[in-house]
Amino acid sequence: MGNMIRAITSDGSIVAFAVDSKDIANKASQVHKSSAVVTAALGRLLSATSMMGIMLKGEDDSVTVRIDADGPAGTLIAVSDSIGNVRGYVSNPVVEIPLNEFGKLDVSGAVGRSGSIYVIKDLNLKQPYSGQTPIISGEIAEDITNYFARSEQIPTICSLGVLVDRDLSVKASGGFIVQLLPFADKSVIDRLEQNLKNIPTVTAMLDNQATPEKLLRRVLEGFEVEIMAETQVEYLCDCSRDRVERALLSIGAQELNAMIAEQHGAQVCCHFCGKEYNFTEDNLLLLIK
Ligand code: ZN
Repeated sequence: MGNMIRAITSDGSIVAFAVDSKDIANKASQVHKSSAVVTAALGRLLSATSMMGIMLKGEDDSVTVRIDADGPAGTLIAVSDSIGNVRGYVSNPVVEIPLNEFGKLDVSGAVGRSGSIYVIKDLNLKQPYSGQTPIISGEIAEDITNYFARSEQIPTICSLGVLVDRDLSVKASGGFIVQLLPFADKSVIDRLEQNLKNIPTVTAMLDNQATPEKLLRRVLEGFEVEIMAETQVEYLCDCSRDRVERALLSIGAQELNAMIAEQHGAQVCCHFCGKEYNFTEDNLLLLIK
């Protein structure tokens, strides 16, 4: 289970989120059997998407964040429900590239430095809300910050980190998102900037046993912080046989008949969680009817 916190400063100038997503990133690395740098990239995206999930207003709303850039990892996708439960997918989970010039996993090298980030919010309206901004660094946190500033006009600070151990398990993962509300004045921004200069990295804090609350209190030092909610979040897929059946139906009778003729059935594997769904020839015939 991961831990998520939502807070506001009592002067009403800042709303903030922080998450410890170690278990989520670990589960993602197990599902996708990803190499270290891809685990770091996907873990960062999952952390951000989970925090964007709890920003949603409606209980049944969901948010999808997709990164399409020119790196070897290919497309990365994360989907969160309104509680912050997330799942993710990456088209090339195994990328082996050298460490970057700081001796760290080269996330932007795996993701790519040119492309787009897409945010699609299903708010249960006729049309989903969607926004798109260019990738500016491929390190993901900067790209999320840029998305909020340019697409939603919300001044945002986002910091994300994933520490991968030698055995490829995740040692620490998480991040925070801090957003300025319309009442924030210059002194608030100055204070925040000062704080950010003085804090250790997210992974250093989390690896040092900091909780999301401690992390936020460091970032918001000097502000009176009110914790609004603390929730448990996890890597969770909502796939079901029913959904897979509908997906199969959408590819059409001709394709299904071809599956019967060639494979005498179908095996469908969920992209997000790896669960297998088996359909016999009879199952498929029934679907075609
Ligand atoms: Zn699934």
